[in-house]
Amino acid sequence: MIKPELSIVIPFLNEERVLPLLRERLEKIQNRPSKWELLFVSDGSTDSSPRFIEAWASEDPTVKLIVLTRNFGHQSAVSAGLSFASGDCVGIMDADLQDEPEVLLEMYRMLIKEKVDVVYGVRASRRETKLKRLFYFVFYRLYVYLADSPVQADSGDFCVMSGRAVRVLLSLPEKLRFVRGLRAWIGLPSKPFPISRPARAAGSPQYSLPKLTKLAFSGFTSFSIRPLRVGFVCGALLCLGAVIGALIYLIIALFTSIHIAAPGFSTLVIVLLFSNGLIFLYLGILGEYLGQMFLEVKGRPSFIVERTINIQGVKRTDEHH
Ligand code: UDP
Ligand code: MG
Repeated sequence: MIKPELSIVIPFLNEERVLPLLRERLEKIQNRPSKWELLFVSDGSTDSSPRFIEAWASEDPTVKLIVLTRNFGHQSAVSAGLSFASGDCVGIMDADLQDEPEVLLEMYRMLIKEKVDVVYGVRASRRETKLKRLFYFVFYRLYVYLADSPVQADSGDFCVMSGRAVRVLLSLPEKLRFVRGLRAWIGLPSKPFPISRPARAAGSPQYSLPKLTKLAFSGFTSFSIRPLRVGFVCGALLCLGAVIGALIYLIIALFTSIHIAAPGFSTLVIVLLFSNGLIFLYLGILGEYLGQMFLEVKGRPSFIVERTINIQGVKRTDEHH
């Protein structure tokens, strides 16, 4: 078999309403690379979407399917797709047409022309609910502020990478992959590509707010240990406050005749609540890191493949990465 020029990884979870539209769009594309492969990854879909891809794959050998045993999450599904991609270059896009295939090809051409390893989409505009937009806004600002290594703000997983970049990504030992973060972290030459993000073509978002929050946390914890230092700073400030407070009370008690013992009750309660709150908050941050370490230390693979269609030969790496 000839090696494809471009592999496009498309993870999906219950997208039966979108996939026919996606197929139409992909089949309409003019001047596509002569050899491409479409790597669909079913991330535990329970509707008819895997059957739809299967039927398509039986007509078209460039359409390939990887079925995961259950829902492992979008990032793991992307990793699964990457590990099976055999193309010289690899693109990643969502199935819901929020990432447009025509744009992906433009990004691919830019990657070839400019000889860089990564071309990633940067969202200039978004069609999402206000709450989600606020969430994204806050997350990316905080993410850029916290990160210890270079980051690509306002970019999702929509990108095209060289084979070299994919190999480096896959060779990283971590199981919990925040793909857009690692893509920047590896430091290979990259170029942003401004995109506008259209609304989802059909169906409803599979990323619920809790899932999105989980993704955000793994973004923070895998690229920064700054939050861990927050506890130290807060503790130091509180201790300083306590010392200053004690001094003030001491001075008042020694040098004035004011009795402030009883009236201070509400202050006491507030201070107590506040400092206890801080302690728990910090424990939460610690717990988040501890949880990530726990998951990493167990060393389980980030996904398990149930079956594949139209895929022969070996993967780029074995699946236990
Ligand atoms: N997706 C997935 N596994 C999940 C959640 C989502 O494979 O657990 C897929 C989904 O089918 C879609 C892409 O990831 O192709 C992006 O999901 P979605 O459109 O729900 O996210 P949003 O665009 O709202 O961020
Ligand atoms: Mg979407």
